[in-house]
Formats: sequence, C-alpha cells, structure tokens
Amino acid sequence: MKVGEVDLHTHSIASDGKLSPADVVRKAAELGVTVLSLCDHDSVDGIAEAIAAARSFPQLTFIPGVELSTDVPHGEVHILGYFIDYTDAGLLARLETLRDSRIGRARKMVEKLRKLGINIEWKRVQEIAGSGAVGRPHVAQAMLEKGYLASFQEAFVKYIGRDGPAYVEREKITPVEAVELVVEVNGLPVMAHPLTAGDLEPMVGELKAAGLVGLEAYYDACPAEGVKRLVNLAREHNLIATGGSDFHGIDYSAETMLGGSCVPVESAEQLIALAKQRNLKK
Ligand SMILES: [Zn+2]
Ligand SMILES: [Zn+2]
Repeated sequence: MKVGEVDLHTHSIASDGKLSPADVVRKAAELGVTVLSLCDHDSVDGIAEAIAAARSFPQLTFIPGVELSTDVPHGEVHILGYFIDYTDAGLLARLETLRDSRIGRARKMVEKLRKLGINIEWKRVQEIAGSGAVGRPHVAQAMLEKGYLASFQEAFVKYIGRDGPAYVEREKITPVEAVELVVEVNGLPVMAHPLTAGDLEPMVGELKAAGLVGLEAYYDACPAEGVKRLVNLAREHNLIATGGSDFHGIDYSAETMLGGSCVPVESAEQLIALAKQRNLKK
C-alpha cells in the first residue's frame, strides 16, 4: 500500500470514528504521515488530546480542524475548518447546538426504524457513540449488532441513506453560514468531498464569496477523473486543492487508510502558508 505524507481529513471517537484522537495521531505518524488534521463532525473535543499526542512526533505537523455538516435541499455539503481557534467559547456553544440537533435526529431515526419492524435501542446507539456526537454510523452499527443487516453499508442503502424510509433531515446551518463560522474563529474553510454536493459550480462561487479558501480534491482513494475535475475547479476559483482519507477506523478493509489519498505536499504547504499570512495581518 502506498501511503502519502499528507492527510487533512480524519475522524476520531470525538465524533463517529473508532480510534481515540491520540491513536489517530500515533497511527498516522507510524504510517509516515507528516501533516495531519483531525476534523471531527461538529466537534473539536479531540483536538487538545491530538495536539498533546503530536508532541511525541516531531516530524509530524498537526493542524486543528473540524468538519461541519450543513443542510442543503439536495446532496450533502460538509465544510472543513482548519486552524480554527478550538477554544473559542462561541464556537464551542454553536457546535454543541449542532450536536444536540443531531442527537434529536438520530433518535427520530431509531423511532422510524421501529415502525419498520427494526427494534434497536436508543440507549445502545448512545453507548456505541460514547462521548462523541451521535450519528448515522452509530445507528447502523446497532442495526448490524442486532442482525438486521448483512453489512454496515446496507443500513444506508436500505434505511437511513438520504432516500431511505427511516432517514430524518437535519436542521439548521447552511454551507455559507458554516464557512462564515469557520472564518469567525480565524479558521480556513475548505469544502469537503465536493462531488457529494449536487449542483457544485454555483455553490463554489457562493462559498468563495463567503470566505472559502479550498476544495478537497484528493479523496476516496484517488478516483482519477474526479480528482482532475476538482483540481481544475479549484484552480479556476483560485482555491487550494486539499485532500485527505476521511479515515474513521471502522472498517479497515473498505476505508482509505490514513495518508492513503495521495495528497500533494504542496496542498498542506499552501494551507499552512495562508494561515501564517492571515496571522501576520492581525
Ligand atoms: Zn464529510
Ligand atoms: Zn469526514
């Protein structure tokens, strides 16, 4: 397996990942990653632990991050925020509100599943999520444990995917608002896995106007056509083409491994340079 040096998109138990923040850092360092960001869903709770763990690996540059889920009528838009002030009280309060709405959503999905004859316990879903934000993967895991599924993916295909009978819409933050939230806490907003966004091109223009600095272009085991399209789109809009594995540590046989998305070192260099430049201006 070829492993790259840069991974700007990973998850831990602070949201729906399986490893602790310190273990994500350790594993990435062992695999030769030299620039790493932890971007948990609507949570920065793992950042302090990851920063502490990264001190043991002088060759590793750690970038604090977050991944904000947003609400759009079609598709799925996630905004990554790099170099955010993860101690900002306003940010922490906003993230908590977003997580609460997510708990409400997961709970509603459990109720809908029950009406479909699938009896999983809300308590068990919470246990699986642990201290992190409750999300659809935890619901899927509970279904899998109870023998309702042949595979983890089946939960999304048959039940809780966007068009599934037990899917519940999330409330509340638009992509533009998410970009603005990242900017407010001195972060650099980047659009995650843009090919899930539906009508992409107008949205990129709109987000760029709100402060977007990058597009994730290197992800999902490098599908060549998609990467090319996104790198070109980034160039047209004068955005940095970033990337990462979106590692969750749940199913190693199906996931892209840490550092496995062939992200060019220049991506990280450009992002780091921009963060420095903004800091100097303040
Ligand atoms: Zn995402
Ligand atoms: Zn992600």
